[in-house]
Amino acid sequence: MRDIWVFIEQDSGVVEESSLEVLTKAREIADARGYLVTGVLLGRGVRGIAGGLGRYGAHRVIVVEHPILESYLGEPYASVMGDLIGERNPDYFLASATRNGRDLAGRLAVRFRTGLQAHVVNLDIAEDGSLVGHVPGFGGNIVAVVRNVRGRPQMATVALGVFRPREAWGEAEVEVVEAKLDPSKLRARRVEVVRRGYVDLSKSRRVVVGGMGTGGDLTLVRELAKIIQADVGVSRPLSDIGVAPKDIYIGSTGVSLNADLAVIVGVSGAPHFVSGIRNVRTVISINKDPEAPIAEYSDYFAVGDLFEIIPKLIEKLRRGV
Ligand SMILES: Cc1cc2nc3c(=O)[nH]c(=O)nc-3n(C[C@H](O)[C@H](O)[C@H](O)COP(=O)(O)OP(=O)(O)OC[C@H]3O[C@@H](n4cnc5c(N)ncnc54)[C@H](O)[C@@H]3O)c2cc1C
Repeated sequence: MRDIWVFIEQDSGVVEESSLEVLTKAREIADARGYLVTGVLLGRGVRGIAGGLGRYGAHRVIVVEHPILESYLGEPYASVMGDLIGERNPDYFLASATRNGRDLAGRLAVRFRTGLQAHVVNLDIAEDGSLVGHVPGFGGNIVAVVRNVRGRPQMATVALGVFRPREAWGEAEVEVVEAKLDPSKLRARRVEVVRRGYVDLSKSRRVVVGGMGTGGDLTLVRELAKIIQADVGVSRPLSDIGVAPKDIYIGSTGVSLNADLAVIVGVSGAPHFVSGIRNVRTVISINKDPEAPIAEYSDYFAVGDLFEIIPKLIEKLRRGV
């Protein structure tokens, strides 16, 4: 039976929710094709959470425990996962496109000389068994349908927030495998863990997004967000120039929003950006250019200077009118 492996990312025993998104999607594909879904969980003291992953779609979970695996580190994770793949030879390997997932998948694809579909926004397995991913390409103007033609396992990283995790199945069978790790051979070790605590915007209900039109000053964006109890996101160039962290930029190479409301200010609406707002229920945008492409993707479009409109909006919201 064909086997779809899903990397279950965790940090100190807390599972990354986007891994569950991938797990559920993998199970939906597996059910349609009669395949098996295996979650692979690397960590320290994590076997207690393995069985519960079955509820999100895993038929079985392979657990590897070692103190070094407590949080993600590229070298030991790729070594352990690579050895497991080498021994068991799964047909498919999927990871969520978090930084760690992308790092791991890239390392493994090189080791196994196999194709890796990066950041797919949709995923399926064709009748002939080839993994088929949808990858936004050419500036987002097209969605390229990509198929693996050679190499095993067939691999993909899955964009965050495009699939929803479902608790629809029973407990998974758990197999604990001994870690074959020689710490003395590792070239990097964890010195300190710094947690920045940014919110996962793919889960936010309300988001205010600032673009280059803000001139890199997010004061008003943050103020508006606070009043309407929203989280703050940006377009990618603001991350690129260091105004905002990479974790909070929206778009095909960033986060896909699933919010009820997004207020988008000073963003032109380039294809790469708008692919991250397709699942937003209500989009309100402010732009001084009446021809800005974002208008086409907005339910409400205000033409004007954000530095004039937002303060008035904030004042009205404060007064409750
Ligand atoms: C491979 C690749 C991947 C990419 N991935 C992403 C991605 O995931 N996410 C992403 O965002 N981008 C991505 N980009 C970049 C993307 O193509 C655009 O360049 C980017 O989205 C533009 O950001 P922006 O709209 O903030 O800036 P701009 O395009 O410069 O737009 C600024 C907007 O602000 C308006 N404006 C200016 N001043 C004001 C004002 N005072 N009041 C109101 N409006 C004002 C302007 O009219 C303009 O419409 C990617 C590019 C490439 C090549």
